[in-house]
Amino acid sequence: MIDRNIRKMAKRLAAMVKPKPFMTMLEYSNTHYYVTSATDGRQKWRTRPYQEDWFLAPTDPEVECMVCQKPSRVGWSEYVKAVIVFFSDWRRSKIMLVQPTDSEVQKYSTEDIDSMFDDNHGIPRLKGQLNNKKTKGALKNSYDFKQLVNGALIHLVSAATPRSGRRVERSPILFEEPATYDSPEGDTIGNLFQRAGNIWDPFFTIGGTPIYPNDYMEQAFKKGDQQYRYYPCPHCNHYQQLRWENFIKDGPDEGRIRCEHCETPIDYSNLYSMDKAAGWACPLGLDRSKQVLRNGVPIWRSQQVGPGMSYHRAAMWPELVARHRVALEQMKMGNVAPMQTFHNTDLGVPWADEITSKLTGDGLAERRKNAGFGNGYPWDGEEWDIPTGVLLLTDGVDVQGGGGTVGERLVYTLWGWGAGEEGWHIAHFEIEGDPQQPEVWEQLDVMSEKRWRRQDGGEMRVTLGCVDHGGRASKAVADFCATRSSRWLATKGSGFKGLPIVERGKAVAVNKKNQMMTKRGPKIYIIGYGASVDHIRTMLRVEQPGPRYLHFGKASTDQFLRELFPWVYVPKNRARTEYHWILPPGSQDEGGDCTRMAYVALLLVSRRYSAGTMWAQLARTLGSQAPVVKGEVVAPPARTSQRSGWLKGSSTSGPDRRKGWLKR
Ligand SMILES: [Zn+2]
Repeated sequence: MIDRNIRKMAKRLAAMVKPKPFMTMLEYSNTHYYVTSATDGRQKWRTRPYQEDWFLAPTDPEVECMVCQKPSRVGWSEYVKAVIVFFSDWRRSKIMLVQPTDSEVQKYSTEDIDSMFDDNHGIPRLKGQLNNKKTKGALKNSYDFKQLVNGALIHLVSAATPRSGRRVERSPILFEEPATYDSPEGDTIGNLFQRAGNIWDPFFTIGGTPIYPNDYMEQAFKKGDQQYRYYPCPHCNHYQQLRWENFIKDGPDEGRIRCEHCETPIDYSNLYSMDKAAGWACPLGLDRSKQVLRNGVPIWRSQQVGPGMSYHRAAMWPELVARHRVALEQMKMGNVAPMQTFHNTDLGVPWADEITSKLTGDGLAERRKNAGFGNGYPWDGEEWDIPTGVLLLTDGVDVQGGGGTVGERLVYTLWGWGAGEEGWHIAHFEIEGDPQQPEVWEQLDVMSEKRWRRQDGGEMRVTLGCVDHGGRASKAVADFCATRSSRWLATKGSGFKGLPIVERGKAVAVNKKNQMMTKRGPKIYIIGYGASVDHIRTMLRVEQPGPRYLHFGKASTDQFLRELFPWVYVPKNRARTEYHWILPPGSQDEGGDCTRMAYVALLLVSRRYSAGTMWAQLARTLGSQAPVVKGEVVAPPARTSQRSGWLKGSSTSGPDRRKGWLKR
């Protein structure tokens, strides 16, 4: 009796110290992984042929990172859950999962993680593993931090929440939907890689749907070996990618794929047998300059999941063709969002419409060369600032930092406007210094007084300008504008949905801590971020001189043009029900912000005129002097600052606030 008990105990002890047999994660998942859901219960997982490499990657010593650029509905989220289960159970680790926002972290925690550990429909091997002991009266585990009885750890992190740079050792780290990361820290992926520290044999995944060219998702894909899947034609056995160009989009064979070799239509029903015989390979001629290499070999495996590879009903080929048709019809009516979504979520590729892609620094620099359209002024040897056609000048000032921060300065841009809001960019400068100190504002006063030379020999002064009130120096901005209300207005951007380009001014006062206090004091004008960015885009899309066309001259440096329209239109949530403009990581938008403010100043000046006659009236009053504007006139206080040398001619020395994360 005693003997038997001892033997039993010894056996149990031996089982505890015995190393687990080696298993690839593919073998493990095919045996122990289940699809779990609160509504549909538990179903055995079946790895599809095209997914097998993903499941082999975590236990493959040659793969450090598995990257997947993909449409939706290809099983990647089940793969990520399988990785979490494998590293929770078989190879116990400290896992980190990065979601774009905190609300997605919470959703993932309550839906996916809880369902994995559910006593009834969860993963059998994880039953009872969640450590739910209470310490100091509170549950040991929170929604974003789960400790397991066996020592493993699941740490859920939002890319949007700023964190301390504290180093936490985590592996695997799983990045979900990086194209939608809008992080105040800038380089989320790079920072987390650094924080993961020197883990022996780390493993990472980066998976998601790309949005626009060269976003985080596409950058990650290019860091890997860039594999595409090649399928044999069921008719002629020729291996080829499933390409959207080869989908038959109308006629009796609509929804089939034309073989690029024998041209016979291939039906969706062949997909499984084709996939079983298919393989991943890297096409020739790819740009390999950005790959992560070890001893000359890429250690990031990256796969592009193309259109029509999924077995999901919604990804069946006739379905794709039908959705494309709808997107095409919408685009003809001017709504590009469905086509954006189609490329991203159905084809799994980044996309920008043809016109948006011209709004890059390079595209706009092309416009600056076009002297035939009145660009590139003042032309060689000419001694003036403002081309004929300009009837009104407005400026915008972006306020950066304050109180001793790095890169603190004012960024100034000046626009001239003519009939129909045709625009001419006149000047772009920076005033270096602390915006909480009077010196920089004295320099702005000098700037405000400047008389600009016209092409026809006259002179002009600026009518109205807007100063950004949103930052650390908002008290100084409010004070500056309060005593110069006929020349400078304080504006503040707001991302609140549905706002117009500019609202009526609201009186607020700002205390020394930069908090808005009472409803007395100078007016602040709220600029609707979405509407004003939309409007600048509308103007930049005009390609012929005339109403709303924007001209670029010598003042429009390459840097200014890069900053003029850096924004991208991305979905706010995974369901893609709503889009908004964001500033992509690594870009600057001071030039664009100043321009939006100068445009708001134009709108506010226009309110003093009757719409139909404004430009005619301005043209009449404009002889050799600046236009006289109706409304209150308050002379700015006399300032006699004689500072010089602050005109730094545009911003190459601006702080590089968001460093490229590719530098590891
Ligand atoms: Zn064929």
